[in-house]
Amino acid sequence: MPNPTHRHTRSRRDKRRANWKIEAPNIILCPECQEPRLPHHICPNCGSYRGKKILEAVEK
Ligand SMILES: [Zn+2]
Repeated sequence: MPNPTHRHTRSRRDKRRANWKIEAPNIILCPECQEPRLPHHICPNCGSYRGKKILEAVEK
């Protein structure tokens, strides 16, 4: 099994982790209802995707 042979130093470990940063999720506004939603996702508010395609009956 591939396993690390040697333990890295604290400095090396911390230098690797220094590049970890949080990224803000890419949020766009739904063209149908102007509600914020994630790209490539069905709008959670109006259930539309790519124009007028209504895929889910979420509305009440
Ligand atoms: Zn919408």
